[in-house]
Amino acid sequence: MDLLISDVANKEHIGTSVTLRGFVSNIRKGKNNVFLMLRDPSDVIQCVSHVSDKTFSEVSKITRESSLELTGKLKEDKRAEGGYEISIDDLKIYGLAEPFPIKKGHKKVFLFDNRHLWLRSRRVTSIMKIRSSVFESIHEFFRNNGFYEMQSPSFVGGSVEGGSTLFEIKYFDKKAYLSQSWQLYAEAMVDSLWKIYTVAPSFRAENSRTWRHLTEFWHAETEVAFLDLNGLMGLEERLVKHVVKNVLLKNQVELNVLKRDQTMLKNAVEKPFLRMNYESVIDLANKNGLKLEYGADLGADEERVITSKLDVPVFAMNYPIKLKPFYHKPDPSDPTHVLCNDLLAPEGYGEIIGGGQRVDDKETLINRLKEDGLNPDDYKWYIDLRRYGAIPHSGFGLGVDRLVMWICKLPHIMYVVPFPRTPRRIYP
Ligand code: ATP
Ligand code: MG
Repeated sequence: MDLLISDVANKEHIGTSVTLRGFVSNIRKGKNNVFLMLRDPSDVIQCVSHVSDKTFSEVSKITRESSLELTGKLKEDKRAEGGYEISIDDLKIYGLAEPFPIKKGHKKVFLFDNRHLWLRSRRVTSIMKIRSSVFESIHEFFRNNGFYEMQSPSFVGGSVEGGSTLFEIKYFDKKAYLSQSWQLYAEAMVDSLWKIYTVAPSFRAENSRTWRHLTEFWHAETEVAFLDLNGLMGLEERLVKHVVKNVLLKNQVELNVLKRDQTMLKNAVEKPFLRMNYESVIDLANKNGLKLEYGADLGADEERVITSKLDVPVFAMNYPIKLKPFYHKPDPSDPTHVLCNDLLAPEGYGEIIGGGQRVDDKETLINRLKEDGLNPDDYKWYIDLRRYGAIPHSGFGLGVDRLVMWICKLPHIMYVVPFPRTPRRIYP
């Protein structure tokens, strides 16, 4: 018992009686037999009942997406999908399904309105399996490299990434916000633990509504003591290589269901990532038809142009100070720029990681807060970290959903989340 289709659909089990549970993804009825496609998390298998079988009348009642348990003899059948077939000897129906609303050819909005049912499709299941591998690999990478897993609160009193994308909530008689990033808390925890990471949801009231923004997304963040920008980029590259390599190893079936061309994924594992400073990135964008001035911010559209021309991920480094929040450390050799990097995925995807070296000096931090229009009194505890034994430290945030989107090469981030949250969608 408790066997999956992938455990039994093999030469070893031919001629034996097997019991499987699953959902019926398709039905074909002939005069003398009924064919069911039984689906479980591992695969699908054809099951048949002939008119002379004792199960025939019950099998004939079954509807698409009904759930059941069946027992029968396995045989090889070259014509069946997967090459095997079960002749049904015994049957227990868990739930007879009403007419299933999802059929071929539905539009995106209808499918997301029925996400709770659409999740069962082979394509969506494949994406979710890849998503699971990505999460597993991220934890594995950090655990294997001596990082402690730590947590920060989701209810916070202030902003990390700027007030415009804060979700305000009523917190008893006070105002509070949902966390945009663990970073400020991480900078406190890093003083005692030195190498820490988290994988948690972050919340941003994005009104930009692009193909790569969710209001709730999964954020893999890390903070490391005594690490500079250069070392940080090395860490980012090793993490992304590890994740992509694991997916290539574990998810060939799923990548093939998605018809994913794997060249760029293999490149990301095998070739070194590019490193370009901000000005060179602007030059590259302009060479490819954009008209950007030095000082322009890069969004989804600009990054699409830049990364469409590349065959490996690229680090865009050292942005002008005006484009980045207060916690980025100014470059000592050119304080008009900060020691930051965005890691841009190829094939038009753009930013999957944002990170950098943090301000470690109290005066600079207070000035930078004021320049960003923030009140240093609201950041007292954060400034304290520079008062009592400041250390150089760096960290980054990886958008896990964005990484999955690129690995699967999908056109919208909503496809990679079981129940996506965007400005327009909070159901189901
Ligand atoms: P963008 O410019 O695309 O809005 P950002 O600069 O605001 O990104 P960061 O604050 O650096 O992003 O966040 C770190 C990472 O988190 C990003 O590189 C991205 O992968 C991911 N991320 C940020 N905002 C979102 C969002 N709204 N939905 C999904 N992922 C996000
Ligand atoms: Mg943003």
